[in-house]
Amino acid sequence: MKVYYEQEIDQKWIRLKKVAVIGYGSQGFAHSNNLRDSGVEVAVGLRKDSKSVRKAEEAELTVMETAKAAEWADVIMMLVPDHLQAEIFKKDIAPGLRAGKTLMFAHGFNIHFKQVIPPENIDVSMVAPKGPGHTVRRQYELGYGVPCLIAIAGDSSGKARQTALAYAAAIGGAKAGVIETSFKEETETDLFGEQAVLCGGITHLMQTGFEILVEAGYAPEMAYFECIHEMKLIVDLIYEGGMSLMRYSVSDTAEYGDYVSGPRVIGSQVKDEMKQLLKEIQDGSFARKWIEENKKGRERFLEMRKKMADHQLEKVGEKLRALMPWIAKNRLVDRKKS
Ligand code: NAD
Ligand code: MG
Repeated sequence: MKVYYEQEIDQKWIRLKKVAVIGYGSQGFAHSNNLRDSGVEVAVGLRKDSKSVRKAEEAELTVMETAKAAEWADVIMMLVPDHLQAEIFKKDIAPGLRAGKTLMFAHGFNIHFKQVIPPENIDVSMVAPKGPGHTVRRQYELGYGVPCLIAIAGDSSGKARQTALAYAAAIGGAKAGVIETSFKEETETDLFGEQAVLCGGITHLMQTGFEILVEAGYAPEMAYFECIHEMKLIVDLIYEGGMSLMRYSVSDTAEYGDYVSGPRVIGSQVKDEMKQLLKEIQDGSFARKWIEENKKGRERFLEMRKKMADHQLEKVGEKLRALMPWIAKNRLVDRKKS
């Protein structure tokens, strides 16, 4: 598989363009600040009454109303929440799309599931960092980068790839490597990864372990350190040197337990369920349900968000973190800034 790095990408192909980053959330914050620091002419597109206007202005970024930004820019990067993109596209972006412009996404959902149908006379591409926006910013500031995927869904200029690569490099992605994929492949693997492993799988694994220890009468603080806090320390080792480095660092007892008990926890039932998740992503039924949930006003989604935020483990974690002030000192997310 071809992996692109900085040396073979010319960032001038994005420096020659005016770029509008629509939205100033997790990704919008990272892209706009990184592009600006890479010497790209950038404006952030927001609603006039958005709380993000102040945050973007405090970062000394140019802010325009969404429709104005789309009208002004050559390259428009859609970094508003996925469930609002179809509506914002129709109302504020489409009217400003003249022939030759580029419409970009950081996730393929709306193109792949046909919620946004762009005109034929523009370029449509994706630059999707494989990491949270706050990390994309932090890594850039440190002189590093988060790997990016690019994909092309429309290439009327014949230059869509060159522009996407230059954009990926300007946000720091080409320091870590840029891989080309398709909107379909990115959408399906991204949804699967976040549901089965990164967000859904890992949180429920940690939560279940925490609950079992607490229900068995162990102190919640102990359970928190054991099943939740320590996850990062283990993942840091895997990040640095794979599973074998982690297994090198833990005790032989832990390593033996890993081999004999791991497959019992993640047994064939879990694997079958994961396969089923992938099927529902591929056949569009997950997307249909999520679009439906948003249309109905997100009642169930907000209920689940509240229930999870109120879980005992969150209270215990807050208390324990307060005693480890270095965590807040090095925090990735400052809600006042982004
Ligand atoms: P977010 O929810 O963090 O931020 C959304 C931003 O959009 C906010 O600043 C909000 O004020 C703004 N907004 C809302 N309505 C608006 C409107 N009508 N006009 C203009 N701005 C409006 O979003 P996010 O998580 O950064 O996601 C953006 C895109 O990036 C999505 O396609 C997502 O799938 C993709 N992505 C996100 C991450 C991540 O780290 N969160 C990682 C990879 C890809
Ligand atoms: Mg993802």
